[in-house]
Amino acid sequence: MRRVDPPDGDEFGPKFPAAAGNHPHAVSTGGSANGPKPAGEPPGGPAPPPLSAAGGPSASGGERRADPPGTDAPGPKKPAGHGSTSTGVDGGPQRAAERPKRLAGRRGRVVVVGGGVVGLSAAWRAAREGAAVTVIDPDPGGGASYAAAGMLAPVSEVTYTEESLLRLGVDSLARWPGFAAELTEDSGDDLDLRSAGTLDVAFGADDLAALGELAEFMAKLDLPVERLTGRECRRLEPLLAPSVRGGILAPGDSWVNPRRVTRALLTALSRLGVPVVRRRVAEVVVAGGTVQGVRLGGPGGPASGGVRPGRAPLLLQDSGEAPETIPAEQVVLAAGAWTGSLPGVPDGVLPPVRPVKGQIMRLRTPYPALTRCVRGTVHGSPVYLVPRGDGEVVLGATQEEMGFDTRVTAGGLWEILRDARELVPGVTEWEVTDVVAGLRPGTPDNLPAIGPTALPGLLVASGHHRGGVLLAPLTADLVVRLLAGETIVDHPCSPSRFEESSR
Ligand SMILES: Cc1cc2nc3c(=O)[nH]c(=O)nc-3n(C[C@H](O)[C@H](O)[C@H](O)COP(=O)(O)OP(=O)(O)OC[C@H]3O[C@@H](n4cnc5c(N)ncnc54)[C@H](O)[C@@H]3O)c2cc1C
Repeated sequence: MRRVDPPDGDEFGPKFPAAAGNHPHAVSTGGSANGPKPAGEPPGGPAPPPLSAAGGPSASGGERRADPPGTDAPGPKKPAGHGSTSTGVDGGPQRAAERPKRLAGRRGRVVVVGGGVVGLSAAWRAAREGAAVTVIDPDPGGGASYAAAGMLAPVSEVTYTEESLLRLGVDSLARWPGFAAELTEDSGDDLDLRSAGTLDVAFGADDLAALGELAEFMAKLDLPVERLTGRECRRLEPLLAPSVRGGILAPGDSWVNPRRVTRALLTALSRLGVPVVRRRVAEVVVAGGTVQGVRLGGPGGPASGGVRPGRAPLLLQDSGEAPETIPAEQVVLAAGAWTGSLPGVPDGVLPPVRPVKGQIMRLRTPYPALTRCVRGTVHGSPVYLVPRGDGEVVLGATQEEMGFDTRVTAGGLWEILRDARELVPGVTEWEVTDVVAGLRPGTPDNLPAIGPTALPGLLVASGHHRGGVLLAPLTADLVVRLLAGETIVDHPCSPSRFEESSR
């Protein structure tokens, strides 16, 4: 049984702010007593179990000492430019250098398994807070994060049954500006974070009626949205099809370039001296009922067996000298779609994460095409276009239950193009620059699994499905709090919700 401590300085609150944009304390991540009860949760039902990494002896900052593996990453450099403030997550803006580091002085190494946007974000935040972190991934910056469009769009992606997810998304979106500013400060990289909103358009009368109902639902939740006529939509985005009858603008929705984000995270980790070991974790080492570390396998990727050709070179070197076993006080499992099974972990401990395939394509336009994200539902399936600052437009995406299949198919690309052309007829003129398929880490309830497991010393940060980029700042902050020994009560992301339901 885990401790049920009151959260210490917990900022969870109940509201969806009118301007989701920049307020770090704005929104609850949990089903607070004061806030709207998430749909799908039984009224008055049992509160989700607390999140706490203090489940066993390993989490108490115990006595084992883990020596870091090869630390050939360059030492910290003084970041250039930009105001040096915290995200305010822990109590408002404050110069980072002045803040006490929450994980400094804690003995024992933290190993993060998986270097996608979730694992890298958690590792970076933990390292910034003074933890001794090692990241292990044969292909860091790969996985679903390499495929993702990068929409930070909790409002325009809202569905009637996913209010908990919406709450998490709105909270994380509010953390993005601070997260991006600090990451740019630490890496020197621009993430192409944009906040011009998402325009969700409708064609037929039925579509329009459905969009109208959705707008009313959003208004009831105090979400900031504006209803627009077809003409108003085209005034905002002149390339939209004449058949567009109306739309909803979610002005606070944003987007970012996930490939830049993972690259910046790797640079920032390098500058903080965090080793990124380009190997696969073959096994979690457990003794006496507690995690002791991880055993490394080969350099091959988890599913495909290696780094894909055509990938931009990443900035870190393999630390090469990594020992076969890396001791760790705490292991954070952030292996995306591969999280559901890892040798060494007892049965029933890991959350049921499955791969949900998504094919996506990148096009280049010869002229500025769109100023905001545009989406719609065509032939019953959602399609979106996401413009980048460099003239690229991302078109996506399929949702397929195909196991660990990452083949790009003609049919998948055809569906995306067919549907995108309904929204913006000009897309077929644009140059194709990239096509890729990624595996979203899906869970049965579409919520991520973030928190301790029944195995002391093993934390999970996975299952982010369609929203791992959006949810990365919130997830990383939660992981830091858990690593610091904090217990987070009443949280919808507790991995143990799956343990309980499977009993
Ligand atoms: C087509 C598509 C579009 C998307 N668009 C968006 C979007 O617009 N906005 C959004 O927020 N989200 C989007 N997503 C979802 C988002 O990409 C994921 O939720 C997110 O990338 C998950 O991040 P992750 O770090 O958990 O997993 P991943 O990025 O998959 O990373 C997992 C990593 O774990 C590593 N790994 C696996 N097994 C091992 C092992 N045994 N040892 C060591 N390392 C291991 C892998 O190599 C991989 O690098 C999209 C996804 C897809 C596929």
